[in-house]
Amino acid sequence: MYSQHTTSKKSIRSSIIIKLASLAFDSGIFRTGRQFWSKSLTVLNYHRIDDPHQDSFDSFLPNVSAIPAEFSHQMDYLARWFNVISLHELINWLDGHQSLPAYAALITFDDGYLDNYTQAYPILKKYDFPAVIFLTSGHIETDTPFYWDMAAYCFHHTNHDHVLFPESKERSWTNKLERRNVNKAWVESMKNLADSEKQKWINTLPAKLGVSIPKNYFRNLMLSWHQVREMSNNRIEFGSHTINHPILSKIPVDQAYIEINESKVKIETELGQKVRGFAYPNGSKNDINSEIEQLVHQAGYRAAFTLQNGPTSIREVRHNPYAVRRIFISHTHTLPQFALLTNNINRIRN
Ligand SMILES: [Zn+2]
Repeated sequence: MYSQHTTSKKSIRSSIIIKLASLAFDSGIFRTGRQFWSKSLTVLNYHRIDDPHQDSFDSFLPNVSAIPAEFSHQMDYLARWFNVISLHELINWLDGHQSLPAYAALITFDDGYLDNYTQAYPILKKYDFPAVIFLTSGHIETDTPFYWDMAAYCFHHTNHDHVLFPESKERSWTNKLERRNVNKAWVESMKNLADSEKQKWINTLPAKLGVSIPKNYFRNLMLSWHQVREMSNNRIEFGSHTINHPILSKIPVDQAYIEINESKVKIETELGQKVRGFAYPNGSKNDINSEIEQLVHQAGYRAAFTLQNGPTSIREVRHNPYAVRRIFISHTHTLPQFALLTNNINRIRN
């Protein structure tokens, strides 16, 4: 009852935001005072570019950032109002070798999904935009899924109508939408568990939902090293997102350093070039601390990106290049919302 109430309140609020954003977008009010924030850096955070409305879509929905057509509209908006830079240019600026253009924007992708190559890459090429993909090195070219995609597969293919949560609470569903919400909540509940406990819940989920996962099913969800190399020859840079995607503040420091450092070494070996950028898994305030930022620095990275929301000023980036804010993009965002998110007014909220 409570969650239903919250959901309807939330959806009323979000439909009001969509309408207001749309009105502001049409009236051009977003551009008011634009000259005052020309020295900003707008870092966009994407995960997947795919169509989640197909019946066959059986991976984790919140990770879809945009359908390909919407991504294309967003790139169009960037071409019109921003100067898209590469990570290389950002680092050159940090090192004092060049200046940054006004309204600089950096396009980033996390995790290393195959659709970055099949869907996003051709669109980026069309606009001649550089971008950076942060790879979770242990998942590239393997059949090892992220647990959220494995869970989504199980929820999508199960005939059951309920599942047990770690707090010994059972949740059920009667339709597809409710099932998706339970799926999302189940994945969220995993984030609060200690690693061994989490692993136990993840390993037993297929049996609990009566699902068996075909061998190699996830092999084609992620990029291959061959695709990574091809893109790296065509304006796409690669950074690290650890080996196994742990929340770094929740694991021992020596293990965190291995995740940060060995993923860098692996990507450098595969690409034959230096890796300078890092993105924190999950990336919210509680997932990072100054000790972890220090480890990233020590491992030889020059910049690191969080998921603390909002555009940032170039002064902030220079002050601490190991906690650069990004804007999380979701497939639920309309173009006016995208314009609102990338507007500097979005910084005031944080
Ligand atoms: Zn990630």
